[in-house]
Amino acid sequence: MGEKLRVLVVGAHPDDCELTYGGMAALYADAGHEVLMMSVTDGRTGHHAMKPSAVAVRRRKEARRAAKALGARSKVLRFHSNELFPDIATRKVFLSEVRRFSPHVILAHQLEDYHPDHRASVQLVLDISYSVLVPHASRVKAMRETPVIMHSGRGLTTAGAPERIICVPIDGNTSRNSMSGCPGWTRRCRRSRRAVRAG
Ligand SMILES: [Zn+2]
Repeated sequence: MGEKLRVLVVGAHPDDCELTYGGMAALYADAGHEVLMMSVTDGRTGHHAMKPSAVAVRRRKEARRAAKALGARSKVLRFHSNELFPDIATRKVFLSEVRRFSPHVILAHQLEDYHPDHRASVQLVLDISYSVLVPHASRVKAMRETPVIMHSGRGLTTAGAPERIICVPIDGNTSRNSMSGCPGWTRRCRRSRRAVRAG
């Protein structure tokens, strides 16, 4: 192996990193690189009946189990889901978290997305992409190089064409393994599919 990379996967909610980048995270981890799956919000509004505080605790644990199955670590920030906004206070917290890990590569959502939290999380990634280098932008030590930023799906169709498009082979077994850490959400997905078929 060449240089050991630090790979940061950024999702808006616990399960975004795993569903979108579980296969890539496993490939990086298997190759000996360090992978951190970071959810910017706690996903507390992700259940129709459970109390938000209980959902946040449950999803934090599930994200940890899913990351472990991929050979990665998990971190869930304390912003509330459905309330994420890329303002300056949020950007400062996010910048410090990114600088603490000092990634070579960041995997993020696409900019054009139906969910405001997804859009806000990828906006945060772009907003800190230069200030990771600026010494006094955070109390956490500045990074030496700007990380490579990759986006899922169609990528930067708003800000310009992507420099490169990479097709990543999907590992079905790995995706299933990572989602086995999130049994509640997997069951919910199965129920939704049944409902769609019944409809
Ligand atoms: Zn999401």
